[in-house]
Amino acid sequence: MNEENHRSSAHGASQQRWNFPKLMVSLPAWVESVIPPLGHVYRSDIEKMELVLRLAHLNIMEGSGGPFGAAVFDMRSQRLLAPGVNLVLSSKWSGAHAEMIAIALAQSLVESHDLAASASLRCELFSSTEPCAMCLGAIPWSGIRRLVCGARDQDARCVGFDEGAKPQAWSALLRDQGIEVRQDVLREEAVGILREYIALGRQVYNSKINAPGAPGA
Ligand SMILES: [Zn+2]
Repeated sequence: MNEENHRSSAHGASQQRWNFPKLMVSLPAWVESVIPPLGHVYRSDIEKMELVLRLAHLNIMEGSGGPFGAAVFDMRSQRLLAPGVNLVLSSKWSGAHAEMIAIALAQSLVESHDLAASASLRCELFSSTEPCAMCLGAIPWSGIRRLVCGARDQDARCVGFDEGAKPQAWSALLRDQGIEVRQDVLREEAVGILREYIALGRQVYNSKINAPGAPGA
């Protein structure tokens, strides 16, 4: 680049604005049509997990994301507060895991970053697969008081998802913080959804940071 060009492009850069994009994530349109109507009272953990697994399965079938579903329920009313599905690929955000979406929607609905702030709510998070390291870290921040999971961490790793570094005693650590944990609810069905995703040849969207042959590896 000659000096004149350099000067003119530097001048041009000074005229430009950053123009960062807004961060916006929306549930796929199909979600509302497959969940029970507003006000439906859930009778059991099984019924709640069935909803979460339906979301995970349809997320595959509709091509809207990875094989993971989640939902935040209010334990006082036994009603759904917010559903979530994995939206990593469509949102182009690695943090768009089903649990994060459900928590963010619930917090937006109650207009607080803390789901434990209102005495009228007691929130529980259902997840089709045990939370990864990121989602696990988000739970105590969120005000969730109970976690219920389907598939185990090792089930997700077995089909190739990188769940991150988690303490082995993660459930005991949550319990120490006053958060109840229940595992293996409809685990077999949840594992079936993970396997179906792989059998369909869908993308395992781990970062390529450590993949063989990755750029810069
Ligand atoms: Zn996660």
